Amino acid sequence: MDDQHVLTWPAEPLEVGPLAERLHVIPGSGDYQDLVTLAREAQALAAPKACYRLAYIDDRGDDHVVVDGVTFSSRILRVNLEDSHRLFAEVATCGVEVDAWAHGLQDILWQFWAEAIKESFLRQARNALRKEQERVYGLRRTSTMAPGSLADWPIQQQRPLFQLLGDVEGAIGVRLSSSMLMSPNKSVSGVRFETETDFVSCSLCPREVCPGRRQAYDRELYARRYREG
Ligand code: SF4
Repeated sequence: MDDQHVLTWPAEPLEVGPLAERLHVIPGSGDYQDLVTLAREAQALAAPKACYRLAYIDDRGDDHVVVDGVTFSSRILRVNLEDSHRLFAEVATCGVEVDAWAHGLQDILWQFWAEAIKESFLRQARNALRKEQERVYGLRRTSTMAPGSLADWPIQQQRPLFQLLGDVEGAIGVRLSSSMLMSPNKSVSGVRFETETDFVSCSLCPREVCPGRRQAYDRELYARRYREG
C-alpha cells in the first residue's frame, strides 16, 4: 500500500465579483463591501487541504472490489474499475481554519455567504489535488465516484473509504460523524481512477432538480453498462 499523502496550500485570492454574482449581491452596495471584508478575513486564514492514497485492486466480485484489503460494495464502481488496477482514495476540504471562522459569525446572512466562501476554498483544494496527482503520476483520463452520490454506492461506504485512507482527521482535520457526514461540511471524498470510458455519477441519477448536475440523466445507461448477466 502506498503511503498517505497530505497536502495543504495557501489560499488563493478569492474573486469577489463572481462570488457576489452567485450570491445576488449588488456591486457597490453596502452588502458588497461586507462581502469583500468577509472574503479578505477568510482568505487571510484559510488553508485548503487534501489527503490521498494510491491503492491497488486485489480482487473483484460481481458487485464489489477489494482494494488493498478493503472491500467497496458497488456494482457500478466494480464495472467502472474493470480496466483499472489501481485507484486514488481521496478527501479534500476547505480546511478547519476557515470552518472555525465561519462558525464564529453571528449574522445569518454572513453565515450563508461564508458557506459560499468555504465552497470556493474547497474548489481550490480539489483543483490543486487534481493537478498534483496528474503531475506526480502522469494521469491522463480519469473519472471519480463518491460514496453517497448513488444508491448503488451509499453514504455508509464512507467507512471503508476512510479506513483505506488511514487517519484523515489527524492528517487534514476532516471528521466522519456516526451518520457518515464529514466535518468541515465543505469537504468531499471519493475515489479517482484511470479510465477510457468517462463516467459522471449524474448520468445515473434521476433527480429532477439539482444545481450541481454535470451531465444529463441517461435512463438506459444502467441496463446498457451495469446490469449483471
Ligand atoms: S444530479 Fe445532483 S444529486 Fe445527482 S449525482 Fe449529480 S450532483 Fe449528485
